[in-house]
Amino acid sequence: MAFVAKNKPNDVPRQVKKPAAATETERVCPRCKSKLDVGKLWENRNVCSCGYHFKLKARDRVALTVDVDSFEPLWEDITSVDVLEFPGYENKLELSRYVAGEADAVVCGRAKISGRPCILFAMDPFFMMGSMGAAVGEKITRAFELATEEGLPVVGFTVSGGARMQEGLISLMQMAKTSAAVQRHSAAGLLYLTVLTNPTTGGVTASFAMLGDVIFAEPGATVGFAGARVIEQTVGKKLPQGFQTAEFLLAHGFADAIVPRDEQRWAIGNMLKLHAVSA
Ligand SMILES: [Zn+2]
Repeated sequence: MAFVAKNKPNDVPRQVKKPAAATETERVCPRCKSKLDVGKLWENRNVCSCGYHFKLKARDRVALTVDVDSFEPLWEDITSVDVLEFPGYENKLELSRYVAGEADAVVCGRAKISGRPCILFAMDPFFMMGSMGAAVGEKITRAFELATEEGLPVVGFTVSGGARMQEGLISLMQMAKTSAAVQRHSAAGLLYLTVLTNPTTGGVTASFAMLGDVIFAEPGATVGFAGARVIEQTVGKKLPQGFQTAEFLLAHGFADAIVPRDEQRWAIGNMLKLHAVSA
């Protein structure tokens, strides 16, 4: 049985209407409530002047990070299939392909950052909240396997609601599969750098997101496994202020640095240079 399929991105039936958000010219910052011109916001890498980091499509992340014309996408036709015949999943997949413009929730490829070659992956929050099904697990695993084979570092941007519930146990299996691939890459002495972006949660946090040798996080990003309310109800205690934020992670040793979006390219490039393996 195939858990992933080859499919064309944007292959969406006509009845799916263009979402209103695609034509917006103004956005409201959820933190400072300012009205922001979409064009100007993009010029500032989708970061408000108050420092709030809006979500980015995977391709935009890639474009903001890699050296010009260095990105070579890989495995673009891999997409999840509705193997469990979960109610409504087929339609959700089709709509997500249209909204995100991707075959599934992660984009992978070869790239150079500050002249250093790497294998890059970027998850897409507009594809079912970056959830991990069989296709995402397969692409992440292939990324690490290729990097191991070729002796390259891996740079990954995570954003995810966690394992994709519509794929049940198959999505949970991706946690072990991706983690094993990360481990083989690590055993080969190669660098893995993650950038945790808002939000990185659930099974993605519990697998490859937190396995980086170097872990960066975007300011204010929510990073956690279970939701704060669920934890409070389970342990019967009030959680500390700022729990599950990037800043909280840094203070407690789970992240190495908070890196604003406009510094990421430089910071990642420096890490790749520092950890370069000489031939
Ligand atoms: Zn703002």
